[in-house]
Amino acid sequence: GAQIVWFRRDLRVHDHPALTAAAEAGDVLPVFVVDPAFEDAGVPRTAALRTALAALHRATDGALIVRSGRPEQVIPALAAEVGTDAVHVSGETTPGGRRRDARVEAALDVPFVATGTPYAVSPGRVRKRDGEPFRVFTPFSKAWLEHGWRAPAELPAGTRWVRRAEGEPLPEPPETSAELGWASEEGALERWHGFLDDAIDDYDTARDRADLDGTSRLSIALKLGAVHPRTLLADLDRVAPSRSAAAQRSLKRYQTELAWREFYADVLLHHPRSAWRDYGDQLRGIAYDEPGELFDAWCEGRTGFPFVDAGMRQLLAEGWMHNRVRMVTASFLTKDLHVWWPHGARHFLRHLADGDLASNNHGWQWTAGTGTDAAPYFRVFNPVLQGQRFDPDGDYVRRWVPELRHIAGAAVHEPWRVPDGAAHGYPERIVDHKAEREEALARLAAVKR
Ligand code: FAD
Repeated sequence: GAQIVWFRRDLRVHDHPALTAAAEAGDVLPVFVVDPAFEDAGVPRTAALRTALAALHRATDGALIVRSGRPEQVIPALAAEVGTDAVHVSGETTPGGRRRDARVEAALDVPFVATGTPYAVSPGRVRKRDGEPFRVFTPFSKAWLEHGWRAPAELPAGTRWVRRAEGEPLPEPPETSAELGWASEEGALERWHGFLDDAIDDYDTARDRADLDGTSRLSIALKLGAVHPRTLLADLDRVAPSRSAAAQRSLKRYQTELAWREFYADVLLHHPRSAWRDYGDQLRGIAYDEPGELFDAWCEGRTGFPFVDAGMRQLLAEGWMHNRVRMVTASFLTKDLHVWWPHGARHFLRHLADGDLASNNHGWQWTAGTGTDAAPYFRVFNPVLQGQRFDPDGDYVRRWVPELRHIAGAAVHEPWRVPDGAAHGYPERIVDHKAEREEALARLAAVKR
């Protein structure tokens, strides 16, 4: 009988352990379920998903079928229809994904076979000597590296796809200005090979510069599983011996960033509540303000702080934001506007094409000071100094904030010092950073007392 492969966060055919397992067992019927739970994913993420699906449809020679509905109804119905021997999936480790899979497995009368996960090392595998999960990144990453991972899985030559006449067409991507070229498997691999050929050698120094294209931009592909991190890790090992010592530091650095992604997935598995609540209790009882007009100004990139506004506008325009600017904008919301991080995290998830519960919500907590390796709460980013340092010529700000394009060079970070700085309608600063920093520290002191 046919082997169903139910695709979820694994929209690719290369290095796909579950697909390999299915292909070794028989003919493969690839299916994707448009789950009503996706409805709140936001336009950029939905568009990215559909771009990756179209590519998967091509990669399976048009065999991929799409059905809409609740997976616990759709998958068992399809299994009965085709008389399948088994339903294969990549293992899921998020709280919602695990609950969904348990419902589907319970509704099936054939085996539900999970092979691999969207991570190089399955979340839950890496533990402290006493068996407890890690609570801090650096020791986790050492243990993760020691644990190691398997080589990429080969799809057996001659994999046979089951072809079915199906009514439901592939869902079209919605209209969006988000950058989606790297959301498909072929686009992601092309981007990765280009990045690996030259740009990665400077990654260690360029990655923090908001004005440069110094990062891989593979977060969307990793989110959708258009590429498996193991593929990337194997390539890093392969090219390392031929690179300079400085370049090898960059390769190592890239590996460490992938480890952050794996760490946060591990944290979410062990502490599902940390998705929307403070992971640590270091700020228990601290006073926050309800999101109001200032929050709206932050969402729309009208805070009057150029580096913050550039980031928030890049998010709305591209469905992506540079990591350094994610930290600065998140810090601004929590420390300058005193708004609890879940409000900001929700806004990010709605607009990021790479929006990922584990990485986003723990990244927010890191910045807010409630997370695992939380930056100490009293360390408050200065949005102007951050801009001057990580966008030294102001190019990033001018790219995203057209009202400031008349200001040359780094002066763009302080338009209030430029005589005609607001000539094109750029807003005044909505808060006084120095005063709000003091306010944040006073609120901290109140709970520490
Ligand atoms: P690169 O620098 O090329 O890094 C390669 C890959 O490593 C990334 O694609 C990503 O998978 C992983 N990675 C890098 N940095 C981190 C990190 N700090 N934490 C976890 N994984 C990391 N990343 C998401 O994938 N989805 C999110 O929703 C998300 N939200 C964030 C929210 C905040 C407030 C912060 C501070 C960070 C967030 N990140 C998120 C992490 C990081 O900003 C992005 O992964 C990165 O900017 C993606 O760009 P890139 O692919 O070019 O990264």
